[in-house]
Amino acid sequence: MIENIVDESRRFIRHCPVGCTAPLAATAVVMPEGALLRCTACGQWISQATPERYSDSMREFDTEQGTAPDAASVQRRQALATQRIDRLAALAGCRREELRLLDVGCSSGAFLQAARMLQVPARGVEPAPSAAAGARASGLDVVTGTLESAAFEPGSFDAVTLFEVIEHLQDPLSLAHDVFRVLRPGGIWLIGTANAASWTAALMGARWQYLNIASHGGHVSFFNPGSIAVLAARSGFSVERVDTRNVRAFERGQVASPVYTLAKLAAEAVGPLARATGRGHDMLAWLRKPLDAAG
Ligand SMILES: [Zn+2]
Repeated sequence: MIENIVDESRRFIRHCPVGCTAPLAATAVVMPEGALLRCTACGQWISQATPERYSDSMREFDTEQGTAPDAASVQRRQALATQRIDRLAALAGCRREELRLLDVGCSSGAFLQAARMLQVPARGVEPAPSAAAGARASGLDVVTGTLESAAFEPGSFDAVTLFEVIEHLQDPLSLAHDVFRVLRPGGIWLIGTANAASWTAALMGARWQYLNIASHGGHVSFFNPGSIAVLAARSGFSVERVDTRNVRAFERGQVASPVYTLAKLAAEAVGPLARATGRGHDMLAWLRKPLDAAG
């Protein structure tokens, strides 16, 4: 029998990682590590995984292959990366070829390779040594370490990207301050993560694979548009926009194939409404370091 809220000294994440002082409450979503917790101020969801469980689950990322996409999805990824880079350049007010971009938690460099195809002067930083070495072996400019340890010059980037990273962090606020420092005033921070306030999360609860640390190593902290806005405000950023998209009711294999297909069609039909109301699954937050910001 798992207690609803385990002693905070046994948890990898003890308090709201976005910096709220409000208490955490148990949700009805029960994972093997205990009930998922919710910050009663910003709605952030927090896993009760222990530090040991967290470190174990992170090992899968330290390979030369890293999180490189399979051959079938390379083209789709390139199209997606192009869209994102073009929007970053437009928001930052420069041409692609001039966009000084930093990808934090770049793994073996899938996004950086897409940026290189577009002649974007992009760099990366990655704490997992083998993944970082794999990126360098493909000729990418990648530093091994954290954003803090890499000690880039203040104001040296026009854009910083963070894809599928922030849900792994014990202290995203500290990283937010580091991002703020390396961006020039007016620069853009793009965060990609899943939306815990999505219809997918509401429909699936504990069936939502994104919450499962056994299949998604290191996932311990789950944002929503509101908690992203709080993180932004507490680190000096303004929110340019938060986009969410896609709805799913089942993961593949959880129900018989005809049910899965029907649910998928229904989900596609409500997709535009989810997008319009901030209830989509895939979340992209575009934050700006104000032009008048010091440092
Ligand atoms: Zn909070």
